[in-house]
Amino acid sequence: MKIAVTSGKGGTGKTTIATMLAKAAENAQYLDCDAEEPNGKFFLKPEIEKTIPYTELVPKINEDRCTFCEKCADACAYKALVVMGKPLNKVMFFDELCHSCGACAYVCPVEGALVEIEQEVGLFNVGKAGNIDFVEGVLNIGEASATRLIATMKKRFMNDKKTVILDSPPGTSCSVVETIDGVDFVVLVSEPTPFGLSDLRLTVELVRDMGLPFGIVINKAEKENSLIDDYAKKENIEILYRLEFSRQIAEGYSKGILPFDKYAGDFKKVLKRIEELI
Ligand code: SF4
Ligand code: SF4
Repeated sequence: MKIAVTSGKGGTGKTTIATMLAKAAENAQYLDCDAEEPNGKFFLKPEIEKTIPYTELVPKINEDRCTFCEKCADACAYKALVVMGKPLNKVMFFDELCHSCGACAYVCPVEGALVEIEQEVGLFNVGKAGNIDFVEGVLNIGEASATRLIATMKKRFMNDKKTVILDSPPGTSCSVVETIDGVDFVVLVSEPTPFGLSDLRLTVELVRDMGLPFGIVINKAEKENSLIDDYAKKENIEILYRLEFSRQIAEGYSKGILPFDKYAGDFKKVLKRIEELI
């Protein structure tokens, strides 16, 4: 069973819910796909057994062979190449804009003028957090996109025999789409605020477009606040769980300690319900 946990925006408690689910599962693998800000380790406290560099192909220009024809720059949809012909005879490459699509290498007509080289853009940390298999992807600061790193992490490490909890990036970007693509269920975490609801609506549209089953977990739920409940009722979406607003959780969060034992029974029930809904 593969369950992605995502949210419309950062700071809604997505990682709290994802790590609680991983702790509650019998045979869990936790994949931290929030590669620009992977925080799961602060709560799960894994022993990292190996660190594996993640590389992508980027162009390297040999200006001795280059004819400065500009075909590579024209082909680059991300404006990562700028060709300056005579008298400068230079090709500038902005690696922070490069998406490693390979188009420039494909169109270059001169053999040896543009070659692709491996560049390290991130890494994978692999280890154990108690019984949980732990993997996190970490994108280097300034890199353009985590999408391919996430795709590689899923392909290389995801273990179908486990209950896999994928901690997604927040929002509705390509990296979120990559994380939730192919999972069995998506848990949408939201806070009961107008901003939380607005972002939740966008995420609901995304998962509906992708045809994925999903449910909502309300974090920092308050008895007198029915904002998300009213929306869910209108849209016929199941609320899987309401994690109460608690000073204990807030204080523990700031120290990297979550009350897993207190909520283990509740999150086991959430997992059971998800199994029924799949
Ligand atoms: S396409 Fe090749 S030859 Fe033309 S400017 Fe780019 S690197 Fe140089
Ligand atoms: S690999 Fe793609 S994104 Fe990168 S410079 Fe070449 S064309 Fe642009």
